[in-house]
Amino acid sequence: MNTSGTVTQPSAISGRGLFATRPFSSGERIARYAGPLTSIRPTTLDASAPVYGLEVSPGVWLDGSLDDNPSRHANHSCQPNAELVWHGEAEGAWLTAAHPIEPGAEITFDYGFSLAESLFHPCRCGTPECVGRIIARPLRPALRRHLRFSRPRD
Ligand SMILES: [Zn+2]
Repeated sequence: MNTSGTVTQPSAISGRGLFATRPFSSGERIARYAGPLTSIRPTTLDASAPVYGLEVSPGVWLDGSLDDNPSRHANHSCQPNAELVWHGEAEGAWLTAAHPIEPGAEITFDYGFSLAESLFHPCRCGTPECVGRIIARPLRPALRRHLRFSRPRD
């Protein structure tokens, strides 16, 4: 039996994803997002670079890219069912259920990208709210206005 509550497997969104193997209630911790802290800013302005860096305080990032962090497979979604919460150095970062999650559901969270970062990272989450780019929820209205303004006119 898998007691961790999650498993990684191929995802329709991108690459491998992180999936629930048991139910989670809203607010419940799902899995730790583990990695060392670093002052080296991860590369996000590059479409080919996977993104595993979490800025935990100004100029300090958690590097989640290592193999012992299966949570790094959690994909972004425009309608996520989880959030990534930093609890300080002692407890670390945790993927936490934002809604009740059923077994088999893919665990997703908002990567919180800026407008500039979003231009390098298309989103294929497939949810009704998808804006086609990985971008922080508060910035989505600005992105929609930008796309409307910049599309070719007929
Ligand atoms: Zn999306």
